[in-house]
Amino acid sequence: MSSSPERGRLIAIDGPAASGKSTLAQHLANKLGFLYFDTGVMYRAATLAGLQAGIPPSDEKRISELAFELSIDVRPPSKPDGRQYDVIMNGEDVTWELRSEAVDANVSEVSAYARVRQAMTERQREIGRRGRVVMVGRDIGSVVLPEADLKIFLEASVKERARRRHEERLARGEDVEYEEVLESMRARDRIDSSRDLAPLQAAENAVIIDSTHMSFEEVLERALELVQG
Ligand code: C5P
Repeated sequence: MSSSPERGRLIAIDGPAASGKSTLAQHLANKLGFLYFDTGVMYRAATLAGLQAGIPPSDEKRISELAFELSIDVRPPSKPDGRQYDVIMNGEDVTWELRSEAVDANVSEVSAYARVRQAMTERQREIGRRGRVVMVGRDIGSVVLPEADLKIFLEASVKERARRRHEERLARGEDVEYEEVLESMRARDRIDSSRDLAPLQAAENAVIIDSTHMSFEEVLERALELVQG
């Protein structure tokens, strides 16, 4: 890895679920002509693969083995159904399966495993090494790409995030209660923030943006100001 990356080459965006980081990252990447890479899909894919293989999420050894063997490919969207990209796991399009409640409910347990994180972090660094990427996750600025030249930590209150996620799900035709979404989000926040390895926290030199009372346009404008230095 170059020790002095050219300014704006690597952008890390971290934050809790439904804070708006994926949408922000996608817009920034489009504007800058960078690759947009959402690392959450990797942990989701490891979780889904385990569920499909009938391996209990608590079986750390087998889930970790799966994580190393898994083929995960992220490609430009092939369908106009609201997806940001296609995720192909072992040759199968699993883009929407990755967003299922079963995956949501188990992904934090799986992503706390050291070897799962090792498998995914290595792949993410390889992508980062190529430069010109906006990478999104929980630990990008702190662990995966500590050398990133812009780090944004995007927050919002848990109630606001649950409201946004609930609306997204209703729009996709899912029958889900707000309270259920709120509870699942609280549980995920709790595990992601308290795990020993790469917990969800802002990197020391990250710029924190709280989007609870901001429109998406305001968040984008603030991020573009930061990109322009
Ligand atoms: O961002 P998304 O909600 O899709 O991430 C799903 C889960 O994957 C998170 O709740 C977290 O447990 C895990 N994750 C992680 N590190 C990342 C990205 C996601 O631990 N860099």
